[in-house]
Amino acid sequence: MKHNFGAGPCILPQEVFKQASQGVLNFNDTGLSILEISHRAPEFVAVMEEAIALVKELLKVPTGYSVIFLQGGASLQFAMVAYNLLAEGKKASYIDSGVWAKKAIAEAKLFGQADVVASSKDKNYSYIPKNYTVAADSSYLHFTSNNTIFGTEFHQFPDKKNHLVCDMSSDIFSKEINVADFDLIYAGAQKNIGPAGATLVIVKDEILGKTGRTIPSMLDYEKQIAAESMYNTPPVFSVYAAMLNLRWLKAKGGVAAIEKENITKADALYKEIDRNPLFKGTTATEDRSRMSVCFVMENPDLEKPFLKFAEEKGCIGIKGHRSVGGFRASLYNALPITSVHVLVEAMQEFEEKNK
Ligand code: PLP
Repeated sequence: MKHNFGAGPCILPQEVFKQASQGVLNFNDTGLSILEISHRAPEFVAVMEEAIALVKELLKVPTGYSVIFLQGGASLQFAMVAYNLLAEGKKASYIDSGVWAKKAIAEAKLFGQADVVASSKDKNYSYIPKNYTVAADSSYLHFTSNNTIFGTEFHQFPDKKNHLVCDMSSDIFSKEINVADFDLIYAGAQKNIGPAGATLVIVKDEILGKTGRTIPSMLDYEKQIAAESMYNTPPVFSVYAAMLNLRWLKAKGGVAAIEKENITKADALYKEIDRNPLFKGTTATEDRSRMSVCFVMENPDLEKPFLKFAEEKGCIGIKGHRSVGGFRASLYNALPITSVHVLVEAMQEFEEKNK
């Protein structure tokens, strides 16, 4: 049995993979594949509507917000956010907490002034910057709630008065949030939502249409909202599997229930990292991510042997990103607690062998 600690793309519960594959063969007894029915057919429109309704229900999205599925990944949102929200001659604020934040900043600079108000670059992004001032005339404050590569997570969000725009790609649906605190949330599907291809955007309607800019249709949130996520052919399989996955999450008790599990999973792994003399965490303790657990070995020469040992136990995808080294265990919603136990046991056995 494989225990997939990979950072992506797409870790879904086995039962969701099974349902999704059934839909590829014969969608809802139509005799057609989900991949071949028209996206304008009532059967697919119902899928899109249910996916959006589940997002609204699970995240308790208040009225005054639109939920859309787009394409282009979170990376396109780096540009789209600024295109739609940052008017010429205006400024926006960005927290630089890692690779993805930096990419968002670079794209925003194509559209206006993007001020970096805080950065944790000085310590290789091993903590969440907390002291910063945001100019009163800043259009929004952009931050990355979970830094997938460096393993840090905002456990307390910035002040909502700053008009928050958040890249939640790697921790959306992992914990309860108050959507009303945000102007805009975006997330590539491929961690806690579904297969790569769809990108979720939740946006407060009243902030749109204020830049005075003519925006190409595909990049215009207002046009995408008006077209109900079907301005062009949507990524049908990604949306379908996302809908099935959100049904699974709802049946499990929703975001509050999965948050409890996620806390238990992360606690179990960090406890072993702190106890086991062979390993150490790489981030500030208070900013440790529940989704992306980064750690290294006291003796780097043991890293390759441990990677091999863990793989023999079925734990795959734990090699850390090259900018941190060591290991990264991604504990997305679909990863069962039993997989974390297997990894912890592998760490303990490896300790015994290397005494
Ligand atoms: N933002 C974060 C936090 C990510 O983890 C990733 C990918 O892992 C991205 C953005 C880029 O996402 P995409 O590949 O959907 O463009």
